[in-house]
Amino acid sequence: MGQIIDGKALSVVVKDEVKAEVAELEAKYGRKPCLVVIIVGENPASQVYVRNKVKAAAYTGMESQLIELPADISEEALLGKIVELNNDPKVDGILVQLPLPKHIDEEKVIDTISREKDVDGFHPGNVAGLWLGKDCIVPCTPAGIMRLIDSIGYELKGKNAVVVGRSNIVGKPVAKLLLDRHATVTIAHSRTADLGAVCRTADVLITAVGKAGLVDGSMIKPGAIVIDVGMNRNAEGKLCGDVDFASAEPVASWITPVPGGVGPMTIAMLMKNTIHCFLSRQK
Ligand code: NDP
Repeated sequence: MGQIIDGKALSVVVKDEVKAEVAELEAKYGRKPCLVVIIVGENPASQVYVRNKVKAAAYTGMESQLIELPADISEEALLGKIVELNNDPKVDGILVQLPLPKHIDEEKVIDTISREKDVDGFHPGNVAGLWLGKDCIVPCTPAGIMRLIDSIGYELKGKNAVVVGRSNIVGKPVAKLLLDRHATVTIAHSRTADLGAVCRTADVLITAVGKAGLVDGSMIKPGAIVIDVGMNRNAEGKLCGDVDFASAEPVASWITPVPGGVGPMTIAMLMKNTIHCFLSRQK
């Protein structure tokens, strides 16, 4: 029987750490870290995400601001707003919620956020820093996954890790973080031949795909640790991951649920990243 890695409970621990850090930083520097979250348009899922991010910031006691912009805002106007925030000394972190409306080039937006304020860790300078092993902002979801693995005291050195999914925001960066911990890492994707056979080699299996039930218990090595990043809706409209929990849980030694696993940790690590940005800017 797999034990549950409780991301919701761990996210509270992380947010409490941040809360204590915010108080210390305010005492030392005379101001609190400040996170600005920008949402463009009215995508309902994005609205839930940004609300949760601002709520988490309030919990930690840091300053935060939600900027809601209309879906038809021009790319130029959005970039102008970002430049304004880049130049605002009171702002430490800037997050533009993705996806953006089609007429706006996401890459341009990511490139425009100054590297020092890039709390998402998506800026090319931070991506390069991650791959070169230099000081950088690590993307929130991969950072949260590592914290979940650390929370059970698991030693990654020499273990086989399989990451299913190769996106720039989850799959690739988490693979690099696992590599940094001396795991032997395989990245699987949509063209992987025999996904089941690849997954069964994993001591640690991380799924970041976006397909409900893609991985079931028959694809999991007995005793493996399973981290499910996927966020999908099943036929009944309920939130679920990429892993079929019912068949996977009896095979795994540890497993994250959806909801209540990686999701809350992503937001908690955003708070950590805001502190990181604040501190980098003091130097
Ligand atoms: P992307 O759509 O960018 O990437 C999905 C990846 O899955 C791609 O690399 C794709 O392969 C691969 N893939 C697709 N189909 C298969 C298949 N049949 N077998 C193996 N691999 C496959 O997604 P993201 O990385 O942005 O997100 C992945 C999931 O994680 C989503 O459900 C998203 O909602 C969720 N998510 C959750 C977060 C959280 O905080 N909990 C944060 C971020 C994402 P290829 O490259 O070949 O196309």
